[in-house]
Amino acid sequence: MKRFQLESKTLVAFMYDIRVRCPQCEQRADIVMKESLRLSCLACGYGRVYTEGVYRTGGGAFDPFFRLSLYLQTNCCGHVLWAYNRDHLAYMRAYVEADIRTSDGENSSVESRLPKWMKQKHNREDVLRAIKRLEVVCEKG
Ligand SMILES: [Zn+2]
Repeated sequence: MKRFQLESKTLVAFMYDIRVRCPQCEQRADIVMKESLRLSCLACGYGRVYTEGVYRTGGGAFDPFFRLSLYLQTNCCGHVLWAYNRDHLAYMRAYVEADIRTSDGENSSVESRLPKWMKQKHNREDVLRAIKRLEVVCEKG
């Protein structure tokens, strides 16, 4: 059976791969969800496995597991715009660029989790520029 595609992606959908700043060397490290949830840094070899059962989402520019600073974050409109990974960025871009907005009915959706300032029309250009900056960071690896 084909997997059901949720129309409203949740933040959880972007958690399979999170880019963070390595606590040891400050370079980019990845939290990848496979058989286990593992943090690994290619630059210095730092690694950690997540063993706790609970995590917290929506806590700002930190990953929900180790609470490390996200690698993809930038200042925008007096706020911090952040993303877990490239797909998350692409999703935010699609949302901000879209003329038609979905309703804020569902609480756990990325749409409703996007802060108000990101949805405001007068911030749109700045938000898109900030997303672009992070996309460039992504390209560099
Ligand atoms: Zn490192």
